[in-house]
Amino acid sequence: MARTKEDPEWEIGFFESVLKRAPRYIDVIAILGGLYTKTGRLDGGLRMERRMVRLCPRDATAHYNLACLLALTDRRAGAMKTLRHAIELGYIDHDWRENDPDLATLHDYPEFQDMINLLKVILSSRPFIMPAVLDYDPLILAPRSFPPEFTAIQHEILALKKERNAVILAHNYQIESIQQVADYVGDSLGLSYQAQAAEADVILFCGVHFMAETAKIVNPGRTVLLPDMDAGCSLSDSCPADRLAAYKTAHPEVYVVAYINCSAGVKALADVICTSGNANKIVERVPADREILFVPDQNLGQWVSQQTGRPMKLWPGSCYAHVQFTTAAIEKIRLQFPDAPVVAHPECVQAVRDLADEVCSTELMVKFARESPAERIIVVTESGMLHRLQKDVPHKTFIAGPTNTCACNDCRFMKMNTIEKVRDALKTLSSAIEMAADVRTAALAPIQRMLDWSKL
Ligand code: SF4
Repeated sequence: MARTKEDPEWEIGFFESVLKRAPRYIDVIAILGGLYTKTGRLDGGLRMERRMVRLCPRDATAHYNLACLLALTDRRAGAMKTLRHAIELGYIDHDWRENDPDLATLHDYPEFQDMINLLKVILSSRPFIMPAVLDYDPLILAPRSFPPEFTAIQHEILALKKERNAVILAHNYQIESIQQVADYVGDSLGLSYQAQAAEADVILFCGVHFMAETAKIVNPGRTVLLPDMDAGCSLSDSCPADRLAAYKTAHPEVYVVAYINCSAGVKALADVICTSGNANKIVERVPADREILFVPDQNLGQWVSQQTGRPMKLWPGSCYAHVQFTTAAIEKIRLQFPDAPVVAHPECVQAVRDLADEVCSTELMVKFARESPAERIIVVTESGMLHRLQKDVPHKTFIAGPTNTCACNDCRFMKMNTIEKVRDALKTLSSAIEMAADVRTAALAPIQRMLDWSKL
């Protein structure tokens, strides 16, 4: 019998072939999971749901679906654990169904009734299921005539900056009071150029550790300070240098494109570095006959691959902050501000990127805000970006992209830098970035390649 598009076997074959070429395509994983389950291939469904949870570790619905599959395949202990995790991640905000037949095998489990009781308490104190609007006030930065006046501590910082012959570089995700005292505020690419060109004795880098390291790599003669040495990055941590080295040993032919959000050790192993602002341009320049491994951000890598048409192997890392944006939360804020376009960072998951009117780096968000005819814009990235936008495009209104649980999305690492720590770093000239000379030299080559390619 000829197979048609309505035939589940045809659909399964079709989506399996798509998944072979794009193994992290979450929409396809979801469709295949559903098809396997519908046709009784529960182990296949389970495989897909497990894959989904690995790719979207904070997605409550993915955990709930996995719990259902685990229950249906009689893996009850795992199902209970996963169900609890789904609830902790906020599944109550979705459509909790006490009588879901998929969970029937759990009903006699001793803990199941406790969990139902817990949910009833939570739901009675938060009486909503899939509300049409968010249950908290959105964060809105409206146009303002003047920026806030400098405080005493900001004046102290400016005096110390002069005394120390220092330049302050700040990432777009820093708090507003730090952005105000900075000589330059921008994204990783702009900051790298600024760091390389800096002639001051001291570069005080207000960002996270890998950014300050990059400044030291491109300008080793300066003292590079980071206000808080613990300001790391979950994305950078997801790709340890030794694991990448092991991968390269096993695949010596691979061409490594490393997103700048990685350690000096990883940079030293890369062929070229990129930022979210220049990633498409960089990937397009990689020789066509080389297989690319993109590290460490799978979401940015997937987006670049889609934009450039260049297949790439993707390292399974992600930014813990950007993956917290969900389609449910973005759809709700859109209902509240129907005239406002959504601009999203490529580190967001594909489902969120697909919802956005524009996907771009933080620097291009400024351009988008300037050029868009819209008066209000929903900004789906770390919330510090709103301050940069408010400063550069002061006549427009910016609305923070929400998550399922919060009106905005602060990166806990970026926010470790406080205005007091900035002052203290200049006062004590600590903490300074140090690194082994061989790592620095090896890391410089791929960064320099990026800086050169970006200018072309
Ligand atoms: S926002 Fe994400 S990628 Fe950026 S520093 Fe924080 S954890 Fe790392």
